Amino acid sequence: MADRRHDPVVVIGLGRFGSSLALELAEQGTEVLAVDHRPKIVQALAGQLTHIATADSTDIEALRQLGVPDFYRAVVAIGSDIEASILTTSLLVELGIDDIWAKAISRQHGRILERIGAHHVVLPEHDMGERVAHLVAGRMLDYIQVDENFALAKTHPPRELVGVSLGETRLRSKYAVTVVCVKSPGEDFTYATTDTVLRYDDIIIVAGRVDKVERFAEL
Ligand code: ADP
Repeated sequence: MADRRHDPVVVIGLGRFGSSLALELAEQGTEVLAVDHRPKIVQALAGQLTHIATADSTDIEALRQLGVPDFYRAVVAIGSDIEASILTTSLLVELGIDDIWAKAISRQHGRILERIGAHHVVLPEHDMGERVAHLVAGRMLDYIQVDENFALAKTHPPRELVGVSLGETRLRSKYAVTVVCVKSPGEDFTYATTDTVLRYDDIIIVAGRVDKVERFAEL
């Protein structure tokens, strides 16, 4: 199967999310066609993105003129105007785009986008809200939920893990989490082994089921 990861991407809607996404893709070396209906935003980004156009993505003819049907992948980064987000996504489906990513601002919005044929739906504000809640309300320094029920947390080791080797702590059977890597002040992250002995000021990355990681971070 062909590797399509580096195929050009059309990004529609250049608000905060869409413009960051388009700039990051371009930075990574992916060719981007960026589209927004506001001439001002297009002008502001024109110096940083090679292919950028002012167009209304709810107009199928405008999409055709831009060559959108030739793209394998598209991102609909329109959020607040739900009508435009839905209509644009449905036109991309109609144009036969194989890989459509769409941003939603609520779960219901996301469900509609999936129903009409978006292949991937992302909820950046919702996901970030959940993530920050773990940081605000707990001891975690960072938190990322990588699957429905699996997470990675960056935290300091709880008292009972300090000064003994990880093997001796029986962490997996006791708390059902794994310490994946460790960073001592001023050093780089290294993989943790059963012989690793943690210090108070170390930073660790812990992996496990969401409830287990949350419980571990409360220790
Ligand atoms: P963010 O929260 O990431 O800033 P917004 O939903 O506020 O996202 O911004 C979406 C962008 O999509 C805006 O720049 C807006 O001009 C653009 N947009 C909205 N409707 C259309 C449309 N029909 N065609 C093209 N661009 C659109």
